[in-house]
Amino acid sequence: MNGYCTTLLFLIFTYCVCSTYAQENGFILLKNMRIIDGIADEAIEMGSILIRDGRIEAISDTVMPTPDGAEVLDLAGKTILPGFVNMHAHFWPLDQPNYRPVAKLMLAGGITTAFSLGDIQPEKLQEFRQKVNEGKELGPTIYTVGPYFQGGQVSARFRAVNTVEEALGLYNEWKDKTEGVKFYVSINQECFDAVLKEAQKDGKIVTAHLMSITTEHAIDMGINGLEHGVWTIDELIPKTQGMGNFCRIASMNMDTSEMERIINKMVDNKVYVCPTIVPMEALWAERGPFVPNWQIYLGDSLRMRYNTPNTRNQECMPGLFEKQMEFLRRIYKKGGLIVTGTDPFYPDTPPGFDIHREMIALTEAGLSNMDAIKAATINGAIALKREKDFGSIQVGKMADLAIIAGKPDLDIQEVANVISVMKKGRLYNTAQLRTECIGGIKMTKK
Ligand SMILES: [Zn+2]
Repeated sequence: MNGYCTTLLFLIFTYCVCSTYAQENGFILLKNMRIIDGIADEAIEMGSILIRDGRIEAISDTVMPTPDGAEVLDLAGKTILPGFVNMHAHFWPLDQPNYRPVAKLMLAGGITTAFSLGDIQPEKLQEFRQKVNEGKELGPTIYTVGPYFQGGQVSARFRAVNTVEEALGLYNEWKDKTEGVKFYVSINQECFDAVLKEAQKDGKIVTAHLMSITTEHAIDMGINGLEHGVWTIDELIPKTQGMGNFCRIASMNMDTSEMERIINKMVDNKVYVCPTIVPMEALWAERGPFVPNWQIYLGDSLRMRYNTPNTRNQECMPGLFEKQMEFLRRIYKKGGLIVTGTDPFYPDTPPGFDIHREMIALTEAGLSNMDAIKAATINGAIALKREKDFGSIQVGKMADLAIIAGKPDLDIQEVANVISVMKKGRLYNTAQLRTECIGGIKMTKK
């Protein structure tokens, strides 16, 4: 075969691969579908959305006439939601960085924005998100904190900062490349205070998986978000000797004045809560795994390494879960800001499937179906301080949308029936993206 034919075949092949999932025309009318806009408490039953150059140009609660030159997509029987925001994302399941398949699976599930809360190769994530922004790779819009801020030597995966000088050094190294800061379990208070003050001046989203710092101190200092809900309010977890961590959390007393004070402070200071229910719930053998064929997304070596179901600590799982639900119920009743994050590390709830499960879990904490959807859409955008740009279906906002077969406002389980996703006006087919990821999450490190 000569060079010309090879090039031609390559071009045809490339064109076919792209055109089957990406909508190229920038002027599209979506019509005849239900719309959940992320703001209203009721769905529009039969609406239209006009999209031009990646933004929402018009919305109607009737059938809009087709403007000249617009492509039409009839979505009868479907419901359109704002694209989902995963506020606790990672791209390295089981310590194996896998940017391409993880990002593609997220997008396939309707996640159009991901806040990467710590990376083991933060430089690589910078390169990857650059490619996503240039349209060379597929995935959600990625916001990032860069490296973790941790002290001591808790995890050899991450660089430790133990002095204010080291902490500010790491902060200054990364501040121009990140939107947030994530503190991790062993950060000391001097480093925490110093970096938090700088980050606040720079308008960063500051969040933490706490342990070495009390929750009250973090809130008093003005932290924006807290990860893992009640499970990391370490100052209120009993330190009973000989009891595993899950069981100690399960034995927490929720009815103390300290608990009430912390909940009130979180709500009053508008600290968002990212409970990350799904990774813990998946370890509860009675419930997980939630995705029956999750192994198909793993390459052989990774599948061999991760094939044993979790059986540890099962006796404390119901209590562990109930404490989180009770905590969220109280935050919700007081009008606190709850977001969805899935902390994808174990691959048995693959990226993109996990966010649906997180929404379903929130309804068990008493959120209405609509409020669970808002947690995964507009609340995430508010937490990222980007609600003017995305998070709801409103004129002028980015055309980031999840298209669902079903009515998730009436039956939240149907939120998992994502059939396609639109990011910045481009449409992708969920089944196709997922098929492309079969066997894709691989061992990338020894
Ligand atoms: Zn995490």
